[in-house]
Amino acid sequence: MNTLRIYKRAYHLMDVPIEGGDCGRLCGRICCTAREGWGIYLLPGEKRMVHTKMFHMKKHRRRRYNIPRDIPYLYFASCDKVCGKDSTARRYRPIQCRTYPLMPYMSGGRLMLIKNPIGQCPLSIKQLNKEFINRCFRAWEILITIPEVEHLIEHDSRLIRQGKPFAPEDCRPVH
Ligand code: SF4
Ligand code: SF4
Repeated sequence: MNTLRIYKRAYHLMDVPIEGGDCGRLCGRICCTAREGWGIYLLPGEKRMVHTKMFHMKKHRRRRYNIPRDIPYLYFASCDKVCGKDSTARRYRPIQCRTYPLMPYMSGGRLMLIKNPIGQCPLSIKQLNKEFINRCFRAWEILITIPEVEHLIEHDSRLIRQGKPFAPEDCRPVH
């Protein structure tokens, strides 16, 4: 499968609600609320899947941010509840939005999904729709066949094991 088909397949798999309905009602969409330094990374090659007008986008280059060696830069995207304001925007939300409040984690070549330690999602893993978890896992199994994506997840997982910041909520480059 080429990269575009992989992303299309993953987006399709991840088009299921994470719990019984719109979980944003529970918390006022805190994970989608604009804050200084807050946003998500698009995965390598994902930019052509998303609706870039939804976001304020910046390039985070490897020389300043802690990004794996084979990835020169990543797009860092932030928005302010755009999916709540525009019903068509939701279908363009990126993989990281589709995965939250979970995140992929790799150890010894094995893929897992863990609760994302960033943000304050009030849902526990037990409250999540099982179909969401299963489909999310299948999507990530496909996504990590893209070598840069696999390297990025391995890299972030290593930072987590080392207790180092791995995401921009930390509001600082991590070299
Ligand atoms: S923080 Fe959790 S409950 Fe709230 S909108 Fe995000 S995923 Fe849903
Ligand atoms: S793109 Fe949609 S799901 Fe993602 S942070 Fe923005 S409003 Fe939330």
